[in-house]
Amino acid sequence: MIEIDNLHVRFNSDKGEVHAVRGVSINVAQGEFYTLLGPSGCGKTTTLRCLAGLESPSEGRIAVGDTVVHDSAKGISVPTFKRDLAMVFQSYAIWPHLTVFENVAFPLREMKQKVAEAEVERRVKGALELVQLSGYESRPAPFLSGGQQQRLALARAIVREASVVLFDEPLSNLDAKLRAETRLELRNLVKRLGMTALYVTHDQTEALTMADRVAIMREGVIAQEATPTEIYKRPVSRFVASFIGQCNFAEGKITQPATASGNGLIETEWGNLAYSTQGRDAKEEVSVAVRPENVRLADATTPADTPRITGKVADIVFLGECLECKVSLGQSDLITRLHPSSAVAVGDAVDVVVMADDVALLAV
Ligand code: ATP
Repeated sequence: MIEIDNLHVRFNSDKGEVHAVRGVSINVAQGEFYTLLGPSGCGKTTTLRCLAGLESPSEGRIAVGDTVVHDSAKGISVPTFKRDLAMVFQSYAIWPHLTVFENVAFPLREMKQKVAEAEVERRVKGALELVQLSGYESRPAPFLSGGQQQRLALARAIVREASVVLFDEPLSNLDAKLRAETRLELRNLVKRLGMTALYVTHDQTEALTMADRVAIMREGVIAQEATPTEIYKRPVSRFVASFIGQCNFAEGKITQPATASGNGLIETEWGNLAYSTQGRDAKEEVSVAVRPENVRLADATTPADTPRITGKVADIVFLGECLECKVSLGQSDLITRLHPSSAVAVGDAVDVVVMADDVALLAV
């Protein structure tokens, strides 16, 4: 439904040329919720704006459905209003002087081909019903709460009945609690409508909870593209692993390669680790990443062949849902997240273990 092929964007600024997007290629399937995630300045908004026709790519080809909307090589550039897209931005761009009804009706009244009033009424009411704002039609838009205004912006995107909806940090003006509630509401609504979504955010929780697939961008390039589970469990680099949550990192050497019939072993600065990813050779140097929640205290249920790492609890922080402990291993540390009722104290000698499937081998 969305096809972006080898997109490059160069800006000329007073500091010289900024190569903001460097060869980005993305394919989003019909009905898929796709998220571009990355730190400020990585080029995600510029990519989205090129798709919308609000920015002019230096190179590349973009198609929406069966229509090529941009092709630098062929000089094709379809104007924004002719693209089959709806957009929801961080600043909701609510018209403060209009009622809720007129805000939603606005895109229909702007259409080149006039939409009959009865049709406007039908579509606006339908869109407001979907976002649960029925009954608010005659209220001035500024008299809605932040969450309601966000839903109003969505209704305005829906009313156009576009196949693709683009979101640029649409929840960042909401407070934390409302943002958490709205995430799933928004995703479910987009799914129910069968729309294809491209969603830009710098919030990893938002990306993980909402997306079918996530692309993590860094300095104009896609660093990794995968499902949220895969990107969390199998990050390809330190950058991706740390952007998408907390992680322990170590360098090591494979002493026994993993095979189809058994786990392998890696000698690391923490001690030995079992691992399960196949395709690495003996003596190969590797970087490993382990999430804190996967560093556990050894107990009676720990399989006998899982290597144990002995250390001392150096620090404990109570985080409500868990205890974050720093386990000192002499030359290095391991961060672990334990159940808040765990009986540990600073100074305790502990054996920690990491299951083979929880060891990610980094590619870069
Ligand atoms: P944010 O989350 O802060 O919006 P982003 O990942 O969306 O960041 P972009 O807004 O796409 O990043 O910007 C990418 C790079 O391009 C940045 O270095 C930015 O300063 C630069 N840039 C964006 N627009 C322009 C412009 N019109 N002129 C010059 N440089 C620009």
